[in-house]
Amino acid sequence: MGKQKGEHKQNSLPDRLPKMIVFDLDYTLWPEWIDCTYGPPYQYDAETNRLENKYGEVLGLFKHVPEVFRIIKSMPDTKIAIASRTGAPDWAMKALKMLQINDTVMKDWIDHFEIYPSSKIRHFTALQAKSGIPCNQMVFFDDEWRNREVETLGVHFCHVNSRDGVTLDVFYNALHKFAQQSRFVQTKLTFE
Ligand SMILES: [Mg+2]
Repeated sequence: MGKQKGEHKQNSLPDRLPKMIVFDLDYTLWPEWIDCTYGPPYQYDAETNRLENKYGEVLGLFKHVPEVFRIIKSMPDTKIAIASRTGAPDWAMKALKMLQINDTVMKDWIDHFEIYPSSKIRHFTALQAKSGIPCNQMVFFDDEWRNREVETLGVHFCHVNSRDGVTLDVFYNALHKFAQQSRFVQTKLTFE
């Protein structure tokens, strides 16, 4: 019984949700450093939802990414953003305008973009300023530990395995951790 209860909790959304969920691109949403490829022009393969360039390089999403995005869209008050330090922002945007989830290009699922080489501190400072959402209401998925520095801004950092990118397990775990941490803060402040 205990195990079943745990599984249920694992696959359901907690009662407190972040106001913004932010993703790195390379090795978080797709298995590639896009600035280490030959880049576009791309041809889109609707069958596989992948892009291919004339050198035969293929770019597609990690397996669980579409489902993770669909779950976020089911949340009434949670935005999606990208924070990437890739050296090829134009190529990344091109790919986001071609890869699809539910017949809608990725770009249209995403509310904010900060894509340029820089510290992620700068990306999140900009995200907060543009969206009006405080960093402590953001959960961030990234495969590189060095980007954990954004925790100094209050961002809830979640490390993802670069082999699988964002998985459903990692995603639900991060949301439950966020809910626990934000409950603790609120309880402390309001003596609920
Ligand atoms: Mg990365």
